[in-house]
Amino acid sequence: MRTPEPFGEIGQSDPDNLVFVVQRHKSAREHYDLRLEFDGVLKSWAIPEGPSLSPKVRRLAIATEDHPLAYAHFEGDIPDSEYGAGLIVVWDQGSWVPLGDDPTSALKNGELKFRLAGSKLAGGWMLKKLPKGRTEWLLIKERDPSAGEVDILVTSPASVLGSTPKKGRIGQTAPMPKKVRPQLPTKVPSPPEGADWVHEIKYDGHRTLAWINDGETRLITRNGFDWSKKYGCLGPALAELDCKTALIDGEIIVQDARGGASFDLLQRAISEGRDEALVFYAFDLLYLNGRDLMQEPLIKRKEQLRRLIPASEDHRAQFSEHTEGNGKKRRVAKKRANRAWILRQKALHCTVDF
Ligand code: MN
Repeated sequence: MRTPEPFGEIGQSDPDNLVFVVQRHKSAREHYDLRLEFDGVLKSWAIPEGPSLSPKVRRLAIATEDHPLAYAHFEGDIPDSEYGAGLIVVWDQGSWVPLGDDPTSALKNGELKFRLAGSKLAGGWMLKKLPKGRTEWLLIKERDPSAGEVDILVTSPASVLGSTPKKGRIGQTAPMPKKVRPQLPTKVPSPPEGADWVHEIKYDGHRTLAWINDGETRLITRNGFDWSKKYGCLGPALAELDCKTALIDGEIIVQDARGGASFDLLQRAISEGRDEALVFYAFDLLYLNGRDLMQEPLIKRKEQLRRLIPASEDHRAQFSEHTEGNGKKRRVAKKRANRAWILRQKALHCTVDF
């Protein structure tokens, strides 16, 4: 019986565009295979427990044989009679860059630092060889904005390829996450190149996650504190949105006479108990009616969020408008308007502030 796996010669690698893939391999012992394109092959490590977004967690990564480049897109069933039998799905995919000027010796010396830009894994990572091990390495997440305590293997089990059976994916209901760390921006000196960016308004208010569950709302600060009581009638107003469950990322603000967000007025409104002045500007939708949206592209999440928030200007929840386009060009507009912008990649989980 022939295996459907691709096979091939050593390919050519473009050092500026290296592919990485994590395949979930449901063999006798389920594991995740991390593969990094390097010198025309895929360097490979099997991670029994899968990658973790927490910098506190070190996951064992066992170096395995190099694979051909074509294998990065492979998803399917390897028959029982073959080596590595079982179902393989492309759990994450994207590009990677080695940090430091000599990745060849970094690999040889057993300490490779790198950055990932995938749909699920992003930011800084390190592979560190165990001192006495021959094939044993550790995969460690660097402390950066893409780190977090969410168990991504549980919240995002599905394949990232379009060929995945869509039935299972759409029909599947996911439990509401217990804890989510809001995505925080990284300050950069100049806006990024390219048209893949969404430009959001930066508000002077309280970044807040609104957890709506069956007519009740909890308003959680970016550090995880429940401030629902402090915001008075704002929570109940959000609970009236047309949904059973939702997790919305936004900013609580108070508008001044010119319509801008005033932090000073916000603090006064809270201390004086004038909660009717508070408005929730929503810019991201992470979960809706039993569906985990966190791995969907940002632009798709915003479409669903726009449908959820009433168009009325008087509503306590407002949809935060954004524009799409080239960062460099937008900067001019920013200067004119004397306003700060947050940029987020349309498809990836990456945020910069300039
Ligand atoms: Mn494997």
